[in-house]
Amino acid sequence: MKFTIGRNADNNYIVDNDTVSGDHAEILVSDDFETFTLVDLESTNGTYVNEIEIVSKKITAKDVIRFGSHRTDQGNLFDQLTKYIKSQRTDFTQEFGQLLKIEAAYKTKRRSLNKNYSLIAMLPRLVITVLVVVVIYFFPNIKSELRYPLMIGATFLGSTISTLGISERKKEELLDELKTEFQLNFVCPKCGSELSGKEGIFWKEKKACRNKQCNATWQIKS
Ligand SMILES: [Zn+2]
Repeated sequence: MKFTIGRNADNNYIVDNDTVSGDHAEILVSDDFETFTLVDLESTNGTYVNEIEIVSKKITAKDVIRFGSHRTDQGNLFDQLTKYIKSQRTDFTQEFGQLLKIEAAYKTKRRSLNKNYSLIAMLPRLVITVLVVVVIYFFPNIKSELRYPLMIGATFLGSTISTLGISERKKEELLDELKTEFQLNFVCPKCGSELSGKEGIFWKEKKACRNKQCNATWQIKS
């Protein structure tokens, strides 16, 4: 894949500067989209990486790049390059694999949250019940016909307190937070369309984005 740079309007990155040639340079992108090689296209005023003139050189987002006397805003150049690569790519198998991992992690977190909080919710119930049963047992002057209703009442009170307790609300809050975070991340790697309405297994079978304007596809071998 090739990303072209120059003054001419048909370039991918247009630099409006007199010291920049019409077709000044290009960035060659490796097949795995990991390596970028900047190549000077015999420009009049040269291409520089970290102030050294180059013909062809591997670059990263950290390098200072200059075309003629125009020093590029590196962040902007790499943003444009990343956007261009994304627009050209259609196979997003690798990124979709990450989505499946995000979904699995979400489900695990949700399960452990539910489990932990049901334990915490049980605790006050248990303590209150034991306490009241002990009190009733050690005060023999309570009439026996009152003893059982009191015991049942104590159990009921305990469970009511734990249901209305802070832990239950906190749990719902945390579950909501978790869900929101998941929804933000579980999106098409190309166009950002929300995919959280359906499970990962559905998208895995569909092998493509829900957005008809988006041509992202993925092939996950099972
Ligand atoms: Zn998409």
